[in-house]
Amino acid sequence: MSEFDLIRQHFTRATRHTHLGVGDDAALITPSANMELAISADMLVSGTHFFADADPYQLGWKSLAVNLSDMAAMGANPKWATLAIALPGVNQPWLTEFSRGFFACADAFKVDLIGGDTTRGPLTISVQIMGEVPTGTAIKRSGAGVGEEIWVSGQLGDAALALAHMQGNLALTEDAFTHCAKKLHAPQPRVTLGLALRDIANSAIDISDGLLADLGHILSQSNLGASIYIANIPHSEYLNIQLTSDLYHQKLSMLLAGGDDYELCFTAPTEKHAEIIHLSESLKLPLSCIGLTTNNAKLVVHGFDDEILDVKEAGFDHFR
Ligand code: ADP
Ligand code: MG
Repeated sequence: MSEFDLIRQHFTRATRHTHLGVGDDAALITPSANMELAISADMLVSGTHFFADADPYQLGWKSLAVNLSDMAAMGANPKWATLAIALPGVNQPWLTEFSRGFFACADAFKVDLIGGDTTRGPLTISVQIMGEVPTGTAIKRSGAGVGEEIWVSGQLGDAALALAHMQGNLALTEDAFTHCAKKLHAPQPRVTLGLALRDIANSAIDISDGLLADLGHILSQSNLGASIYIANIPHSEYLNIQLTSDLYHQKLSMLLAGGDDYELCFTAPTEKHAEIIHLSESLKLPLSCIGLTTNNAKLVVHGFDDEILDVKEAGFDHFR
């Protein structure tokens, strides 16, 4: 099969917002009036970001979903993607499943695949995403003010729990693993939430490297500190069942430093509290207030008994 047949068969679909898509030397798009383009890229490398034998359907979904998560964090509406992929060989069943997963995510969020590149090499997937946001309304990391509430969507830690299970560091029940593995392999980017937050949040980030690291980016770019409360960090029942007191440190690690959650962390003035609760109900998505921003340039973490955790001693400091 030629490279062109491969691209035609697996990566060419009808488009929604595109003049000229896959097939020419470049794609052609027209951004809407009064909109800024939000552009981002994320690369997934075999052995680093996923296991070589990862399920191709889920890999296709995830490679687009992690990019959509960046759009969500900016309050941008995702519209166009390109896909550059290095493949060790032409494996038709693998490609069929990968592209099915990729386009399932593209269809769910109305994104056009408009081009890319295909080459032979160690399995590497690089997606670039482009979205639109009304000029001047994107939610930046640098926009947080003092005394704002810090919010987190969904639940944190399940993806890290699944990964720890796969690495043999702990053993989940079948039930727990099924739930957590779905969070790890098929994340749901919070695009609708991101769009709604344009009028509500002053700063936002998606949690891909762990809460402390990613909240840390908001704080350093906004020149702020924060007080956050472990007891308020939303998590599934599985984290409780799995991690009893002797694994307290591990539980903290999942909540504070676990990666791959792809939830949003955002800050908003306290006056917006009721509006955010209302939004949570209308989106049927938990939104939890986990603390407040401060002007003391430190991130203070309150433990389950309201003791102040020494995040440095606990080994979390380098995540900031
Ligand atoms: P060129 O040699 O001009 O770079 P290519 O042969 O690499 O062109 O690609 C041919 C067409 O297929 C281009 O429109 C390119 O954007 C598209 N394309 C290549 N690989 C992919 C892919 N993995 N997904 C989507 N489109 C692709
Ligand atoms: Mg090319």
